[in-house]
This record gives sequence, C-alpha cells and structure tokens, in this order.
Amino acid sequence: MAQNSRDMKRKLYLETFGCQMNVLDSELVLGQLRAHGYESTEDRDRADVILFNTCSVREHAEQKVWSRLGELRPHKQQRPELVIGVIGCMAERDGTDLFRRYPHVDLLCGPGELDKLTQLVHNAVITGADRTRQVALMGSNTRRSATLAAAEDNLELLDLSRSISSEDDIAQAYVRITRGCNKFCSYCVVPYTRGPEVHRPPGNIIEEVKRLAQAGVREVTLLGQTVNHYHYRDGDGRQTTFAQLLYDIHEAVTELPRLRFVTSFPRDFTNEALQAMRDCSRICRYLHAPAQHGSDRILKAMNRGYTAGQYYDFVDRARGMMSDISIASDFIVGFPGETEEDFELTMEMVRRCRFKNSFIFKYSPRPGTVAIDRFADDVADADKRSRNNRLLAVQQEVSESINRQMIDRTVQVLVEGESKLVSRQAAAVGKVELGWQRRADESSAGETQMVGRTAGDQIVVFPAPRSLKGQLVEVRIVGAKNLTLFGKLQEVAVSV
Ligand code: SF4
Repeated sequence: MAQNSRDMKRKLYLETFGCQMNVLDSELVLGQLRAHGYESTEDRDRADVILFNTCSVREHAEQKVWSRLGELRPHKQQRPELVIGVIGCMAERDGTDLFRRYPHVDLLCGPGELDKLTQLVHNAVITGADRTRQVALMGSNTRRSATLAAAEDNLELLDLSRSISSEDDIAQAYVRITRGCNKFCSYCVVPYTRGPEVHRPPGNIIEEVKRLAQAGVREVTLLGQTVNHYHYRDGDGRQTTFAQLLYDIHEAVTELPRLRFVTSFPRDFTNEALQAMRDCSRICRYLHAPAQHGSDRILKAMNRGYTAGQYYDFVDRARGMMSDISIASDFIVGFPGETEEDFELTMEMVRRCRFKNSFIFKYSPRPGTVAIDRFADDVADADKRSRNNRLLAVQQEVSESINRQMIDRTVQVLVEGESKLVSRQAAAVGKVELGWQRRADESSAGETQMVGRTAGDQIVVFPAPRSLKGQLVEVRIVGAKNLTLFGKLQEVAVSV
C-alpha cells in the first residue's frame, strides 16, 4: 500500500470491548496499522480515525458502543473527514443495518475479515469526506464457501504479522490457537460472528510462543473460544491434539516460565490434557471452564451438550489429578424458563465445585441468537437480580474460604503493576480488614502497593518497588479477602 507523508501523521484511536480474543485482535490490527504509518492516540478528540472493536455477547458492552457512536455524531458534523469504524462482532452481526441507525459510520469490518482492515482504513482516509462506505463482512455463507481456505490463510498471516520486540516491555501476551466456535449455545452469537472453528498449525503457534518468550514475555495465554477443543491434522494426516500441543510448547519453549489457556469447554476436557497440565511444571494449574448452569433442563435449553453430572465428573477428574488446581466458572441466571428449583441447582454447583471465582451474568436476549427466537424472556428482572445477588454471595463465601487457606503459604506471583485499589492498612502485615482508598501509597522505602497473580489466577497485593513490574517474585500470604490476597515480598524468583 502506497503511503505519503500526510498518511504518516494520521492518528488512530482504537477502543476494545469484550473478551481476550478482541484484545488480541486489537493488538494485531494496531500493529498492522502502525506498520502502515498510523500512530495510536489515547485522545479521541485528536484522532483522524476512530475504531471500536466490539462485542455482542453482553448487552452492557453493546450499550457502551451505541453510546460512543451517539457521542460522535456532532464530531462528524464538525469534521466530515473523520473516519469512524465499527469492527468485531457487532459489525458482523448487524451488517449494513448499522448504517441506518448511525449514518456517520464509515467503515464496518467483521472479526473474520480483519486482515482487510488496513486497506479499508486507508481507502476511507484517502477519499476524505466524499468517501464511499468501506465494508468487509463474512456474511452467513461466505466462510463455508470455497473461499474458506484463502480466508483462513489471510487470518493466519494476520496472526503471524505480530511485531514482537524486546523493547515492548510486556510480561504477558496472548497467542491464538483456535478461531471461531462450533458449539452453537442457544444464547450466544459467536458461531455466527466469528464463523466455524479453525485450528492454527502447531508449528506456527510454537514459533510465536518462542518469539514472545525470547522477547522477555513471562506468561503466555493460549486463546480459543473453546481452547481445549484444539486439534490439527496436517497434510500427511498427522494429528496434534490439545494435550500434545501443550507438551510440545512446554518442551520447545523452556525459557517461558508460565503457560496458561482460556476458555475451556467442559465437555471437551480429556484426561490426556489434564495429564499434560499435571506433568508440565510450567503450565499453570488453572482452568476457566464455564458451567453456565446447574440444572440439566436449563443446560439442555442452552444447548451446552453436557449435564450437571458430567460437569461434576470433569471437576472430580481434574481435582483427582491435581489437588491444587484452581477452577473458575461463568454462570447465567434468569435464563428463560428458569425456576427457583433450577436456580438452587446452580447454587449447589457453586458450593460443591468450590470455584476460585465465578463470572455471573443476568440473562438478556441477544439479537442473532437461537434463544431470542425460541424462548420468551420470562424470568422477571427482580428475580434475575435477586438470583444474581444470592449466587454472588455464595461464590464470595467460597472464594474467601479458598483464599483464607492460602494464608502463611509462599506463592509465586507475576507482578502486573501498581494496585489501583489499595488500603493503607494492607501495607501493614495482616491488617487487611480496614478501609480502602483509590490511590497507591508510596512508603519511605520507595515501595508501593503492587498487584500480581498466582499461577492459579489469584490476585495478590503486596508492598514492593515499582521496578518489579513484569517480574516473577515469591510472596508470603498474610491476609485474604474474597477477591484479593495480601502478602509480603520474599524474593525475586529468577529461575525458570
Ligand atoms: S462455546 Fe457456546 S458460549 Fe462459548 S463461544 Fe461457543 S457458542 Fe458461545
């Protein structure tokens, strides 16, 4: 793509909503746009190009995007040359209907077409205020057509285009291993917006993890909507399973201290994959495996493909192999037809499975899903709210009891940065029950409250120098609340 000196100064504002997959997509497209002369800015008012990478899974994230687009209407009137684009799942789901509601939007790009985004942005920029709209969407059939292989190759090139530098100062990074989803849960739009599952070649994944580790990344998270369903068959018919991929990365990238993965689909968890976690010391013993509900009747309506009993079996197998494994879940309350008895079964699941934490959502019908057409949203909002709060209270009790068991243990923590929620009292050993304030306090010893995570994904706050950001350190746990552990720095762990 030809660039002129004017293009070199274009400022780009990119705001990301939703899951880790969107965070990674944003990182990749930002890298591509930077390589073509765009400069990112945090200041939306100074941007020449404004992009929203959107999510249609939760209503709340979607409302934020609509509100952002509404705010931009007067800006566009004042500066017609401003380029406004919607990318990601909302663009794919709503398609060109979005232009009817927001005629000041110039560009739409679905998550399966992001390799074309740089060209779309460039076309929009060079044609100025007289531009025609730029659109790249998969459509419902395209991905299943003969062009599928070429589309996959182009997306693979987008992943491979990632610029990795030891000057980037990043300790954690995402690496995609699987795109799309084949599960078709009735409340979810992802299989329609991201298309069917595609698994990346294992050689490309290992190479990417290696380059990241060599650039100083301390923790890589493998990403997939159903990450543990990974399987790849090469041209010679050789199969790589998810378990094999874990073993291969662990063996090939010995300089990486931590490897983790999200999000797991409970039904797909093989004993081999659990064994790989048990056998490989640098794979974090943490699983995010959303159960979504404790009632078989609701799980069936959700089209999750497993029963509560099968979920319990999966948890028992995991804990049988690794007694210290930390498991997190997601739950939807108020799904259509949910009775108080169904809800009690979800409460029971949280108590029995002892999740480290659960992300709890009130059901809201999402456009483009099977559930919105098939089921009436018949649980009263007051009931949804009450169930949400009751489930949260049970989860908090469980989380606090798990966290309290950590007191007096020494754990390895990857330091992420300064804590935003810091208590003056937390800095004093053990005194963690008192009030909170919003700013980090710096002690006379040059220490501040830093925050990091254990291999089991527990959040730890402890006083330490800022210079430890990105380092693995040993911390002794001295206090615990339901969401946070409090600790004392022991030493910097340098060995891998
Ligand atoms: S597994 Fe279900 S909830 Fe998860 S992305 Fe696929 S369809 Fe959506």
